[in-house]
Amino acid sequence: MSTEKEKLNFIEQMIEKDLAEGKNDGRLHTRFPPEPNGYLHIGHAKSICLNFGLAEKYNGLCNLRFDDTNPEKEETEYVESIKEDIKWLGFDWGDREYYASDYFDQLYDYAVKLIKDGKAYIDDQPAELISEQRGTPNEPGKESPYRNRPVEESLEIFEDMKAGKYDEGTHVLRAKIDMTSPVMQMRDPVIYRIKKMAHHRTGDKWCIYPTYDFAHGQSDSIEGITHSLCTLEFAAHRPLYNWFIENLGIFPSEQTEFARLNLGYTIVSKRKLRELVEGGHVDGWDDPRMPTISGIRRRGYTPESIRSFADKIGVAKRNGISDVALLEFSVREDLNKKANRVLGVLDPVKLIITNYPEGQTEELDAVNNPEDESAGKRKIPFSREVYIERGDFMEDPQKKFFRMGPDREVRLKYAYIVKCTGFKKNDAGEIEEIYAEYDPATKSGQDNTGKKVKGTLGWVDANAGIETEVRLYDRLFMTEDLNKIEDDFKNHLNPDSLQVMKNAVAEPSVKDMKPGEQFQFERMGYFIIDKGSTGDKPIINRTVTLRDNWAKQNK
Ligand code: ATP
Ligand code: MG
Repeated sequence: MSTEKEKLNFIEQMIEKDLAEGKNDGRLHTRFPPEPNGYLHIGHAKSICLNFGLAEKYNGLCNLRFDDTNPEKEETEYVESIKEDIKWLGFDWGDREYYASDYFDQLYDYAVKLIKDGKAYIDDQPAELISEQRGTPNEPGKESPYRNRPVEESLEIFEDMKAGKYDEGTHVLRAKIDMTSPVMQMRDPVIYRIKKMAHHRTGDKWCIYPTYDFAHGQSDSIEGITHSLCTLEFAAHRPLYNWFIENLGIFPSEQTEFARLNLGYTIVSKRKLRELVEGGHVDGWDDPRMPTISGIRRRGYTPESIRSFADKIGVAKRNGISDVALLEFSVREDLNKKANRVLGVLDPVKLIITNYPEGQTEELDAVNNPEDESAGKRKIPFSREVYIERGDFMEDPQKKFFRMGPDREVRLKYAYIVKCTGFKKNDAGEIEEIYAEYDPATKSGQDNTGKKVKGTLGWVDANAGIETEVRLYDRLFMTEDLNKIEDDFKNHLNPDSLQVMKNAVAEPSVKDMKPGEQFQFERMGYFIIDKGSTGDKPIINRTVTLRDNWAKQNK
């Protein structure tokens, strides 16, 4: 247990107190309860890190429970992707994989108990009427005319509902609590409804299904969950959560709410993310611009960076909005240590070194990772013609531009100092070729000339380099706080969120990289070979730039 009390978040404080008091026999048991109706996103990652992280920290257990009580939208595809994502984040639920649908029999029995105890009744009114009678937070609701229906009658109808004798919408089972409660959830909530729909696990065994409120807390209780952590929206459901536990006399799991993760310029809602996928605004759930775990994985975020981000944002009691810059910082911090450096040029223009012998190639020494000596060195080929970045040349450079321009000297990284002697334009007025002369005495590592230049450029040998397609991603939305907008969130999509560099080139070592391999293109950012990359022309995704470009622009 930690001794640094002041650093604990409020959930850890509560847990330490509970453990110290020997509550729940000194057990900690949490759960992560996704509904398998979509792919997990970065918000879920926060909840996963919290629930599994606490179990790790306090020697407890964390269950993976699929909250699959709603047959409408749930699919096995989502179950599989959710499992893959949690594993990828580095958490392990062992054999504790549960499904709320496995408790349908038990939940049915609980419902029967409530009816028998006079605490639940069948209502024959249509949904709209029931909803009208609920009242408003300032006005009490009205009791249903069926509220005092005899227990036997409710029992019989409930059994017949289960047997499929009634149509959808004809009856519901409601808990009998208090139509005047200031908490709307306590006004005789519906706990079972008829849905003549097959379920992804139970098939057509059931045609009545419990509501979220009737299933969630009871599932916690059945599994012996001690601390049921959920987002703030569920605070209003807590009295009902406790009411079921008390009135059923079952294991008292306790619900605690924390602030959900909201991220600037990002949507964290499965429903809206689905809209982006189905509307063709992105290229699937794992489009690298998507905040889904599969999207950010494909983009090149590492599990370590997500976990460290979750740590940094912490756990709060009030909703706020986290800065994407922090997420980007976390991945830079991680990749800086792990990613080998590679030379690449995204928008190439040819540089001809006119005094370099034609037909000659030399192999230059390059350090793989200055942050990690064990990563070693490699050789990169250099010859008379290389590509440099178009943006690294200016015909008429401003004072502060330290890269290449007429008569300017720069160093080609790992190679020589070169001096620009001229350039050629095509008919469209674009620079087609740049000419330079090199100084053989300035070879990197062997340069005793004492010559100093202000700029160092990346380059790729024009003969040995390979062609690639590099995809540059920017934030998917232009508006930071998407919770505050009133119009359609899709109006806020950034039209420039994807830029494809079809003519990019890279040093030859990139040819041997496998999908998923990550590296830094020197001076440009961190990149990953796309998972779908096959064939001779690698497809490369940019994970993140080396610096926060947006921070600079906003100054
Ligand atoms: P969505 O609105 O995206 O569908 P959800 O809450 O309906 O999210 P679930 O699959 O029901 O998704 O959620 C699983 C768990 O993840 C819940 O405990 C939920 O509270 C938590 N969770 C979902 N979104 C966030 C978020 N943005 N931040 C923190 N936790 C979240
Ligand atoms: Mg949900």
